[in-house]
Amino acid sequence: MLAKRIEQNRIDLQEGMAQEVLSRIEGENRRYFIETYGCQMNVRDSETIAGLLQRMGYLPAPSKEEANVILFNTCCVRDHAEKRLLANIGALKEQKEGDGSLIIGICGCMMQQADVAKKVMRRFPFVNFVFGTNALWRLPELMLGALGGERLILTEEEGFAICEGLPARRSNPFSAFVNITFGCDNFCSYCIVPYVRGRERSRALSEVVAEVRSLAEQGITEVTLLGQNVNSYGKGKDVDFADLLRAVNGVDGIRRIRYMSSHPKDLTPRLMAAIAENDKVCHHMHLPVQSGSTAILERMNRRYSRESYLNLVQDLRRTVPDIELTTDVIVGFPGETEADFQDTLSLMDQVGFAAAFTFKYSPRKGTRAAEAADQVPEALKKERLKRLNDLQAVKTTENNKKYLGHRGEVLVEGFDRRSETILFGKLDTFKMVYFPGDEGLLGTYQTVSVTECARNSLLGRME
Ligand code: SF4
Repeated sequence: MLAKRIEQNRIDLQEGMAQEVLSRIEGENRRYFIETYGCQMNVRDSETIAGLLQRMGYLPAPSKEEANVILFNTCCVRDHAEKRLLANIGALKEQKEGDGSLIIGICGCMMQQADVAKKVMRRFPFVNFVFGTNALWRLPELMLGALGGERLILTEEEGFAICEGLPARRSNPFSAFVNITFGCDNFCSYCIVPYVRGRERSRALSEVVAEVRSLAEQGITEVTLLGQNVNSYGKGKDVDFADLLRAVNGVDGIRRIRYMSSHPKDLTPRLMAAIAENDKVCHHMHLPVQSGSTAILERMNRRYSRESYLNLVQDLRRTVPDIELTTDVIVGFPGETEADFQDTLSLMDQVGFAAAFTFKYSPRKGTRAAEAADQVPEALKKERLKRLNDLQAVKTTENNKKYLGHRGEVLVEGFDRRSETILFGKLDTFKMVYFPGDEGLLGTYQTVSVTECARNSLLGRME
């Protein structure tokens, strides 16, 4: 009770500071621009940052050049991310020299690493503030400090397990991301996430359902439940991910429920049943396998074997026959032999994923795998990646062929990049279909028939 009150006081304090920022900039035409890197979690965080800035009176700017506040929401998972970010910050020097009042802030999981945050502040004296993902709710305080000429770093913020009730500016009017867990406890030996996003915390089921209900009231019909490992949702509570799916399935106005990502070790028969029994839960699962070799999976600390993964796929397909699977694979993990890699190829061949996100292993400072002595040479990783991609291209095409003549419902999401008359939308199974149509159909559900299969997508027409 006392902790709750203290938390509320801290939120109220931030709200007060947001009002002060608002009063300082009132009457001025102040604009913000957010550049987001990385995964959907960061996209969702940027929506909250935008919501907070709008509460402080700022409006979106169409480009960095037209902004009075520029924020970089960073990611430290992808390769060379740090180098790219430093170059992008450096490019703002001239703009800041021309406009001393320009506020520049850097946030996201890369900034949760204190040494990187300090390096950014040292190297770029024109950066106003740096904050990690856990300190996002303190943006009003940082903005107020910046307006007063202060330079601040907030990276060690642990005050809140989860901060509820922050505003958000949603980027899509009919589909929304909803966080259900934050952080990760799995400590896969190659991954930096548990160190930068902290231990796994689940939101209360009632909070998630309330958010989904409010999204439905605003016209959103599709939600994607987000977490590093969604199917371990509820750890330490008396609910699990299956309960959550059932609860969200009951929200009026919601037509589709997606979720991302799932960890094979937490994929239970109970969850498979929930997917099968709840009509709004989409028949697609992103189930990262990472390797087809049990020896490598052990070194990755994934806590499943090649055999148990294959058994899971079999059980899942028995329970939800038309479910599509997508995956992530890392090649060239330390110690990976040709035989290990062959195991990966054969698993990929056997499962027949609809799509795969494939990566060459690259060490992340601070993780166990980065210290391994038996790193695989770069040229070999490159060669294996090519062989893997060649195989997956064949499997994707094979998989697409089964959709020829298929009839299904898509949520119309937008226009093809190269055309103003070709729309695209996804089937329940996450397969993208392109078809002729007009703007009035955006955000609606349409039944399409698949008439042609391209390499990575399907072509069709509306019924
Ligand atoms: S499950 Fe493993 S790979 Fe995924 S975020 Fe957690 S530690 Fe990283």
